[in-house]
Amino acid sequence: MMYDVQLPGYGVLLIACKVCGARPEPEQAYTIADPPRWTQLLESGDKTAITAYLMQDQTVFRHGTRKDKPCPAIPLPGPALHKLAGHEAIAMADDLKALLLSQD
Ligand SMILES: [Zn+2]
Repeated sequence: MMYDVQLPGYGVLLIACKVCGARPEPEQAYTIADPPRWTQLLESGDKTAITAYLMQDQTVFRHGTRKDKPCPAIPLPGPALHKLAGHEAIAMADDLKALLLSQD
């Protein structure tokens, strides 16, 4: 099992998905500002802004597979996975899917 790594003094986070183990390339690591930015966005419930963030994140972070199926934590972006356990990530992904599919 891989865990998030924080490099002291650099403010850099190497966040791995607890469900599928995917992680961004080190040169595309997140900063310590990314998880709170994502949390704020999610709390805002702004679907347009959340979708824009997810599109941007896909250029950095892509989930892999688990048991030959797409990772159940899709569509969570990398920063959402910071310090989450696998079952929490799957529950949060379900909540996010419901939010994105909901009508205003
Ligand atoms: Zn994943």
